[in-house]
Amino acid sequence: MTKTDLHILMLEDDPFDAELNIEQLGMLEEYNCICNIVKDRKSYLEALKNSKPDIILCDYSLPEYNGLEALKDLNTRNTLIPFIFVTGAMIEETAADAIKAGAWDYVVKDRLFRLPLAVRSVLKLKQEKLNTYNSEQRIHRLLTAIEQTSTQIVVLDTKGNIEYANKKFAEITGFSIMNSPGSDGLRLSESDPILETIVQNEKSLKKGEIFKGEIITKRLDGKSIWELMSITPVLNETGNIANYVAVKEDITERKKMEQDIIEARDQAETSDKLKNSFLQNLSHEIRTPLNAIVGFADILSSGKHNEPEKIRELGSIISKSSEQLLSIVSDVLTMSSIHTGQEEIVLRPVDVNALFDELYEVHKAFANQKKLEFVFNKEIPDKPLYMVSDETKLTQILSNLVENALKYTIKGSVITSYRILDDKIEFSVKDTGIGIAKDAQSYIFERFRQADPTIHTHFGGTGLGLSITKSYVEMLEGELILESAINKGSNFVLSLPFVSPDKKKRTDSYKSDKLDKIPLNLLVAEDEIFNYLLIEAFMDNLDVNILYAKNGSEAVDMVKNNSEIDLVLMDIKMPGMDGITAFHKIREMRKNIPIIAQTAYAIETEKQHLLNIGFNDYIPKPMKKDELLYKINKAMQEIA
Ligand code: ADP
Repeated sequence: MTKTDLHILMLEDDPFDAELNIEQLGMLEEYNCICNIVKDRKSYLEALKNSKPDIILCDYSLPEYNGLEALKDLNTRNTLIPFIFVTGAMIEETAADAIKAGAWDYVVKDRLFRLPLAVRSVLKLKQEKLNTYNSEQRIHRLLTAIEQTSTQIVVLDTKGNIEYANKKFAEITGFSIMNSPGSDGLRLSESDPILETIVQNEKSLKKGEIFKGEIITKRLDGKSIWELMSITPVLNETGNIANYVAVKEDITERKKMEQDIIEARDQAETSDKLKNSFLQNLSHEIRTPLNAIVGFADILSSGKHNEPEKIRELGSIISKSSEQLLSIVSDVLTMSSIHTGQEEIVLRPVDVNALFDELYEVHKAFANQKKLEFVFNKEIPDKPLYMVSDETKLTQILSNLVENALKYTIKGSVITSYRILDDKIEFSVKDTGIGIAKDAQSYIFERFRQADPTIHTHFGGTGLGLSITKSYVEMLEGELILESAINKGSNFVLSLPFVSPDKKKRTDSYKSDKLDKIPLNLLVAEDEIFNYLLIEAFMDNLDVNILYAKNGSEAVDMVKNNSEIDLVLMDIKMPGMDGITAFHKIREMRKNIPIIAQTAYAIETEKQHLLNIGFNDYIPKPMKKDELLYKINKAMQEIA
């Protein structure tokens, strides 16, 4: 049998007694006892410091030191070393004192034969104490980990009452935890109704299965949170459910992210679908008038039809189709310039009554064709009614609303009116048309959106008009309200700030059909020959001498060599020298010559830029004859 070494520190001043002890220790067959005998405190403390004995045997009374003091010295070191008194005589009180002070056992010298027994029993006790200490340490470490984990851990009884919950649970749910003295863990002041309900009602748990799920729970403050939860039944030795352990994690952030991703994906899909259907619609909208333009222009140029009536009829179709095409192109451009923040407000006096007359003129043919009652009611009818606004945008807003009202009304009426309410003016465009469903009323103001997919089949359109309208209304600090019911009709009510311009007269009216100065020597700088031919056609019979320059440098040369030139119509984008460079060079030679810019970049910022440089005026393409003549007259007047 292999023997285990047993290191024994013996505090004994009498060598004879020490010898007797050693003899008794020899009875421990399973141990190889290695004894270190010390006689005084100094060597005792040194031995404690330098070695770690398995056991200490100590005489109770020593000449300059005693057993109780030796025990005290040992206890300050906080080590788990069994301490046995071996003493000549020990009355009961002394024995009680010794045990109270922490001695593990005592053996009286008269009965020294007990020493091996005492050694065995304290070694066993030591092992038990060590085991208990180790498991306590393990439990402590486990509890600390459970307390500090970022997961919520809850132990419930079989009815769902909380027996233990960690700090994270309290932190997330808002329950307060009572750390009651004597309790083996942290306890809650009340039970969690959701956990209680699950434990009481979840059938799988009763069968001993694990319950798992993502659940919306409520914090104590009423706020809902998402939790990933698993509840596991804990079985006792007899196989019955003794407890449940719930492990939970707050996944609200993750759920929110998932939700955001799903929404973003849905939005991207919707916007993709919208863009596709918009492109299809747009292609259809562009091809339809183009088809008419190309087809009828072909017929006209073939020369087959010479009768003036027929030519006028075809010309009118081409002209209407072109207007339609232009309106679509300008909607798309406007949309993009709104989107990129390039639209600007230009405020000036606008005659609302004149605007109503213009709208009536522009749309009456369509209303007549559809046999609709088409009325413009003016609250103050007999004189101009001026308000400060952006005329182009206000016209576009009302025109879109009127055009839609006519388009989406099969029979009945379209009535446009205004009324003044203190510092506001309220326009109404009311129709007896197909109406708009409640849910569609919220989204038809978004880009590319139509009330439903059948709309395009029946009425065409791009879904841009109302979104442009809405953006313009916002820019004018107004409000647009829709009242509508399916098959009953719609009423778009536009409310704008009403600012009177203090009797200022409206200055712009493009109603010119002749030139004030004749003969007029007009230089047209334009690289596109068709555009030039159009201007030439506009000037037919107007006593105008037209000079034609194909680019900026030709225009500069012509002004240099011809002092008779009265006015320059300058295209901006031309090959070689562009319109702006040519403008500066011409101005160097002739400071006061009127120069009007003409450009296809029909956006407000470009217009302002050209006017700031010093152009007398600006005319967007495609140009109208009356607008061109009006602007030429205006520019000539300014230098007169
Ligand atoms: P579009 O008319 O080119 O389709 P809009 O942006 O002007 O585009 O209008 C969006 C949608 O709103 C239309 O497609 C139509 O469904 C609906 N809508 C607009 N005005 C009216 C109206 N007066 N009556 C019925 N529906 C209308």
